[in-house]
Amino acid sequence: MRAKNYQNSLEFARRLDDEDPLKEFRQKFFIPKVKGKEVVYFCGNSLGLQPIAVKDYIEQELKDWAELGVDAHENAKTPWIPYHRSVVKETAKIVGAKPIEIVMMNSLTVNLHLMLTTFYRPDKKRFKIITEAGAFSSDQYALESQVKLHGLDPRKAIVEVKPRKGEYTIRTEDIVECIDQNKKELALVFFGGINYYTGQAFNMEAITATTHKAGAVVGFDLAHAAGNIVLKLHDWQVDFAVWCTYKYLNAGPGGVGGLFVHEKYAYKKLPRMAGWWGHNEEERFMMKKGFSAISGAEGWQLSNPSILSMAAYRASADIFNKAGIAKLIKKSQMLTGYLEYLITTGCTSPSVFKSQDVGYTIRIITPKEEQERGCQLSILVKKNGEKLFERLKSKNFVVDWRSPDVIRVAPVPLYNTFEEVYKFSKELTKVCRLE
Ligand SMILES: *Cc1c(COP(=O)(O)O)cnc(C)c1O
Repeated sequence: MRAKNYQNSLEFARRLDDEDPLKEFRQKFFIPKVKGKEVVYFCGNSLGLQPIAVKDYIEQELKDWAELGVDAHENAKTPWIPYHRSVVKETAKIVGAKPIEIVMMNSLTVNLHLMLTTFYRPDKKRFKIITEAGAFSSDQYALESQVKLHGLDPRKAIVEVKPRKGEYTIRTEDIVECIDQNKKELALVFFGGINYYTGQAFNMEAITATTHKAGAVVGFDLAHAAGNIVLKLHDWQVDFAVWCTYKYLNAGPGGVGGLFVHEKYAYKKLPRMAGWWGHNEEERFMMKKGFSAISGAEGWQLSNPSILSMAAYRASADIFNKAGIAKLIKKSQMLTGYLEYLITTGCTSPSVFKSQDVGYTIRIITPKEEQERGCQLSILVKKNGEKLFERLKSKNFVVDWRSPDVIRVAPVPLYNTFEEVYKFSKELTKVCRLE
């Protein structure tokens, strides 16, 4: 549905919910409550809600552990030794990869360090890393510390691409130009798939192609992209990617991380940090000297899989598989498009605004174009943003506040409704004017 066909009314929002082919999926999740009343939860970008089925998946493993003990490694309903493979097919669909390119393990920042160890191999000539200004802190620290481990100066080795003056998001042409300007010294380009603060989805295909033309490698942090936007890591020829599963992928706090290494490296014995679980499976228990990596992403595994956290992820991955990532993204674009429409049309009504004694000036800094964002809208509040955030919270809306001046709102297609979007925007636009 095009924005011009949207209507700013509760009836219309309810009609969209009625017609929603994914409406049944909300019932598969626990919706948090405050004082017995369900909240409007728009924080799936930070911590996805708990699928009701998680308990059954985890209980199965507890049962196998209780009844089989060590035997469960081989004889559990889903045997533990190859347990990580039970989620590969679903995950490959979510990130647009081949099974050999995927492994679930560790957590995001750990996986990022493992990838930087392999793919950031600076020499005298090529030592620079290009990244986004304002990246998530953990990514900045990972890059900075890796640069230092090589004895280099982060101020010289790390080049940040910034938004232009007066703008909030980074232009693809500026990223491309920066890569071009630094191409002789460039070792690595590392970006988020979606910036956590602005909600901007980067053009990963263009960044990858440009980086490769410059003779360097490229990796992405998909924390805010996995389960949220179309990803075609294999086809785009991305070298590596890492992500977490507790945001849009609903695997629970500290859930197992994800790793992608492109098939082109599957049979190359690239240097890496090694552990027994990445070693040739036939010999894994022989405890022999000499590491020999399993082909593909699994060759980067260090330890035996964390079954309970993987079981929780499996429950959610199965839901994603049932809903279908393409359908989810289609609904997501409608939900977020509707939210944007309601805020932009709702805020312009001066009569509503005048009736309030408190007023906030806001601006949506997330790009308008569907292919440049996921479900999150970042609302920049000119003054007293935290007060507006507290006000929304007191009215049962769970959104989040990111210092210095942004409220992030993420309607998630698996469990949010058009009616919730409508109610939220009514509350917001009551007291806001659009800059
Ligand atoms: C959430 C998030 C992280 C979190 O890292 P963990 O290692 O899972 O704690 C890292 N990077 C980005 C961009 C994130 O959004």
